[in-house]
Amino acid sequence: MHEATLAESILNIALEAARQNHAAKIFKVGLTLGDMAGVEVEALTLAFDVLKKNTPANDARLAIKRVPVSAACNKCGKVFTLERYNFFCPECDGVLILQSGRELLVDFVDCE
Ligand SMILES: [Zn+2]
Repeated sequence: MHEATLAESILNIALEAARQNHAAKIFKVGLTLGDMAGVEVEALTLAFDVLKKNTPANDARLAIKRVPVSAACNKCGKVFTLERYNFFCPECDGVLILQSGRELLVDFVDCE
């Protein structure tokens, strides 16, 4: 995934929220980011910091909440946190179905 493109959409969402709230300044943008979303946090933050300059988000920072990757077994139904890309149940060899970890959402925009 392209972090710069992503940072731009996040910024646009934040700016739009500020506009709707008639806010002059954005303080914080909350993100939910799944561990399997394929996003490099450092690159994303860096790109955001460059793009936000001279916008109402000039002083805004990203508050990123990571979501672990969890998967449920299709045989025994147990839910596991995936640490590596192992898609087989450690207990019964069933197939693990991804439940969370791919999300990338803007949770909130903190503005004035
Ligand atoms: Zn199982």
